[in-house]
Amino acid sequence: MANSRANTNSRQQDLRTPPSLRRKIRAKLLRWYDTEKRELPWRGETDPYRIWVSEVMLQQTRVDTVLGRYSQFLSRFRSISSLADAPLEAILSEWQGLGYYSRARNLHRAAQLVAESPERQLPRDRRSLALLPGFGPYMTGAVASIAFGERAAAVDGNVIRVLSRLLDSERPVDTPANKRALEEEAEALVPPSRPGDFNQAMMDLGSTVCLPKRPLCRACPLARECQSFAMGTVLLRPVKTKKKPPKNVTVFQLWAKRRIALRMVRREEDGLFGGMWELPGWMEDGHRERPDKKTLEKFCQNALGPGWRPVGEIARVSRTLTHRKILFVVLNTLAPKEKPGRFRSSDKTIWAKEEDLVTLPISTAQRAAIKAASKALEDGQEKLFEN
Ligand code: SF4
Repeated sequence: MANSRANTNSRQQDLRTPPSLRRKIRAKLLRWYDTEKRELPWRGETDPYRIWVSEVMLQQTRVDTVLGRYSQFLSRFRSISSLADAPLEAILSEWQGLGYYSRARNLHRAAQLVAESPERQLPRDRRSLALLPGFGPYMTGAVASIAFGERAAAVDGNVIRVLSRLLDSERPVDTPANKRALEEEAEALVPPSRPGDFNQAMMDLGSTVCLPKRPLCRACPLARECQSFAMGTVLLRPVKTKKKPPKNVTVFQLWAKRRIALRMVRREEDGLFGGMWELPGWMEDGHRERPDKKTLEKFCQNALGPGWRPVGEIARVSRTLTHRKILFVVLNTLAPKEKPGRFRSSDKTIWAKEEDLVTLPISTAQRAAIKAASKALEDGQEKLFEN
């Protein structure tokens, strides 16, 4: 591959490769895939539904984690219609530990749309797939190519890294224009035959050889074609603009127990942890020591009813998500003595017993906060508020 681009201005760098080089890359990568591909339960799968589920799971979750969950999910939801007929709560519950729950909600909505369509099966072309919830460019390309053999690229973070190294791209990969240029080259690279295998080969190369920090260039089937290997710039690619640090937020939550049941509330379906269950609480910007006393008392009354009062802090757990660093602060409350009150439940609030907590869809972060709070109470670690 010519190296003349290395000194060009990043705005001018052309990311297109000549057709003869594309043919070489395809042939070498497919040959490598035929002998080196990872053995995974969804490899060789022909059922579009099962391929779709695997791709949704793999989109933002490590392969090791998906391996432990894929078969179980499919044994519970065997087909698109069984997924469509299941309540969202059952799907969220089965999704626990995989994270990014919006994927499960989209999977459910898309299954319902497919089940209501005259064909009752996934559309076979990219354009129709792209109309379904959760089918962004990556998912559309992956399902269209792997399940239906359509010539379409599936460009995820791994593929972006491989491509920007192969092309020694100096253009930051996180601007829309540069990302589009890489996606266009990725589209051009996909061969007319075996497009699904080619996409999976790119993913495997990114996951097992072209690693972010320690790429195994000497074992790479594309080393001779790789421009950043030739230029000695491998570890400088992909170029990224500086990311904003995640925003600090504090979630104050109430631990309210009546006999053996814990008050839990269900989040709105849209947004972070949508549709999941959690302790009642509210979010504030920044990492905070204590909530404002008046705000806390007012929230306590509104969320739990008259007479409930906050008495102390029992746990602090922090978790970093993509855009937020969340500090959960769990505060213990006391029930009013005079009136026991009714144990009211609805589809948004319940009194959950221990066995309910096992089956309710609850995010991993929230489970950690509940576990920490429960242990602190057992160990007598409550920090009581001063009056
Ligand atoms: Fe990645 Fe190295 Fe292969 Fe280039 S030679 S594609 S940098 S593993």
